[in-house]
Amino acid sequence: MKCPICESTKLISLYKVSDLPLFQNKVYNSPEEAIKQKEVDISLCQCNECGFVFNELFNNEEMDYDVNYQNEQNYSSYFVEHLNSVADYLIENGFQEKNVIEIGCGKGYFTELLEEKGFKNIYGFDPAYEGENPNIIKDYFGEKYKSLNADLIILRHVLEHIENPYLFLKQVQRSTSGCAKILIEVPSFEWIVENKAFWDIFHEHCNYFDKEFMSSFFSNAETKDVFNSQYFLTLASLNEIKKPSSNKKYSENLFAISLNKFNNFLINHLPLAIWGGSSKGVTLLNIFDKDKKIIDCCIDINPKKQNKFTATTGHEVISPERFFSNYSNTSASKYNIIVANQNYFSEIVNQYGGSGVNFHSLEKLLIG
Ligand SMILES: [Zn+2]
Repeated sequence: MKCPICESTKLISLYKVSDLPLFQNKVYNSPEEAIKQKEVDISLCQCNECGFVFNELFNNEEMDYDVNYQNEQNYSSYFVEHLNSVADYLIENGFQEKNVIEIGCGKGYFTELLEEKGFKNIYGFDPAYEGENPNIIKDYFGEKYKSLNADLIILRHVLEHIENPYLFLKQVQRSTSGCAKILIEVPSFEWIVENKAFWDIFHEHCNYFDKEFMSSFFSNAETKDVFNSQYFLTLASLNEIKKPSSNKKYSENLFAISLNKFNNFLINHLPLAIWGGSSKGVTLLNIFDKDKKIIDCCIDINPKKQNKFTATTGHEVISPERFFSNYSNTSASKYNIIVANQNYFSEIVNQYGGSGVNFHSLEKLLIG
């Protein structure tokens, strides 16, 4: 295996995990259908030459983001607050009157948020878009759209899914005029390492960026932590793109201790449910409870996930209301609920804290 960016074969292994779902964000109509979904192994490594961190076993040909793919987080008020702060950052940087293009806009939520905030010339691009907004184009953005004269390209949570981010950014640059800027938002690998967040390593993300490496794609770049440092923004000029390289090195066996600690916690805290049927929660279910013996169900506020089943484990995803009427009061001992994303912990405890269950936050559990 070679580094996709510099082609070096000197790769250092950071973390390996087996039998995770190909897509952790797809949900299924029955446990039988969920269980038969394809499983894949992950081998996270770092290139010893350029510092790029990626999954060397990633297979892009199998990735098909179809209608079963549900990755919307905007049912949470904390997440909506985050999107507003990114929009405000763009306004502060004077992009409201400019030609703005969002690549990989998904269901168009952020594109439409910018429209509501007064952005006048904004287009979204996503081949899987299913809505009716005439400014969202069901296609890949490319050189044939150069005439849109983008002043700003937005790339939120796209680059970590792209096998060769350098070639991809070069292609975006060729599809814009000389002075276009780019705003990139990705999960922070520094945050993952500091929080020992092994549940944030999964197949949909083939790349993992820290600020140093991301900045090195450009001669100049401004970075900014957002979403409680789980994500960061990078703002740069597309014509300053260069081959990235960073000296920061991560240690091998990044998550060995946290995996053990977490397993011990689970088996000593039954009965158990997990809050969050997206990437983090589904990855945890797959690592620790493949045969559904420890964790009874998965709670999620996203109605599109509710009453469906999680990839390759077949845990049922249920609404908070159904959990508190059907599960929590039928058990002799107090239920333990693990909240898969610390950022939603306060929001959840404020709403459901008085319901007679114990809430646990993942990060506190491993670091505290
Ligand atoms: Zn490399």
